[in-house]
Amino acid sequence: MIIRRILLHILLVILISSCKKKEPVLVTVTGKIPASTAGITLAHEHILVDFIGADSIWPGRYNADTVFHHVLPYLLELKPLGVQTFIEFTPNYLGRDVMLLKRLAEASGLNIITNTGYYGAVDEKYLPSHAHTETAEQLAQRWVEEFNNGIDDTGIRPGFIKLSADQAPLTEAQKKIMKAGAITHLNTGLTIAVHSGDGNAAKEELAIFMANGVAPDAFIWVHAQNEKNFEVFKEMASQGVWVEFDYVHPETIEQYVSFLKFMKANNLLHRTLLSHDAGWYDVVDPQSITFRGYTAISTLLIPRLKEEGFTENEIDLLIRKNPAKAFSVQVKKK
Ligand SMILES: [Zn+2]
Repeated sequence: MIIRRILLHILLVILISSCKKKEPVLVTVTGKIPASTAGITLAHEHILVDFIGADSIWPGRYNADTVFHHVLPYLLELKPLGVQTFIEFTPNYLGRDVMLLKRLAEASGLNIITNTGYYGAVDEKYLPSHAHTETAEQLAQRWVEEFNNGIDDTGIRPGFIKLSADQAPLTEAQKKIMKAGAITHLNTGLTIAVHSGDGNAAKEELAIFMANGVAPDAFIWVHAQNEKNFEVFKEMASQGVWVEFDYVHPETIEQYVSFLKFMKANNLLHRTLLSHDAGWYDVVDPQSITFRGYTAISTLLIPRLKEEGFTENEIDLLIRKNPAKAFSVQVKKK
């Protein structure tokens, strides 16, 4: 009798836990958060970038305290604008510094998300030498390891995969990192964001992901603004790909209004992401660059969208709901 009651109880617990729908999460540098709490999100920004190249980069090339004090004021500007989440797109071998990101997250109160993966664009200058000798499976193993056990010894986990390729056709190494991205996605649920030279490169990337069993909505086409033919936005978004228009800047507002009007006219706003692709502390030449802040979407683009008849719901989709959905950690199989 007692055994029967215990068995029934166990069965009930199993049933309840399997019925409870798992809430989607984002993985930030300070831990997991429910995606529904992400709030207004900047979908692609940078804190620090070092363009020296994979063969010469090392953390001692800058003083992390200097960068911290330089960047923090720009992050503190975001709280009054309602921004809560900041997705940092600097990959490994280009200055990804997750301890710095964690310090800035704690000091600013923002959720900051970092990435795993490699940057194959710019003639593969930012690929470490092992990216040429290892297989896609071996590269994926390194990235899955970062997701499971943290980056280096920090315990900080990546919240998405960042890859890149130049204009089509992709090189062999670029194709290999796409395949490694697909394998990593299937083992972790991390979304794959790819800096793409043009629409043809994005199409080639999508074909590789799908051939490896990954669904289109696990893929963010980064720098869609490089593509001149708007029909390609429609072709990709209608298949489920996230189309990301980066580089919203005071001088580019009208261009972005036209992208968004096109997406709205084609009922594709639910597949659209926006960012400034701004920042950043430039390690190679810290004095020469004017730091671009992260406020143009809130202060310039959104008011223009309202003038163009975009509703509160449509704007909410662009700046809050879409990024939360796009960066939710979930395996999406084709
Ligand atoms: Zn970027």
